[in-house]
Amino acid sequence: MGLKEKCAICSQEVKLQFKAMKEWGIEGTLCGDCYSKKLHDYYPGDHVRVNKHLD
Ligand SMILES: [Zn+2]
Repeated sequence: MGLKEKCAICSQEVKLQFKAMKEWGIEGTLCGDCYSKKLHDYYPGDHVRVNKHLD
């Protein structure tokens, strides 16, 4: 029995905890998957296309 945090979105146990940003309106901890999905949702095109210049 662990006391691991659960992701506020997908409810899976979170090993690496990410904090949701205030503007996302989410209380609690996020897993890496949900965190990066939210990042894409809120900041499309920013930060993620690091290899764009290779196209
Ligand atoms: Zn999750």
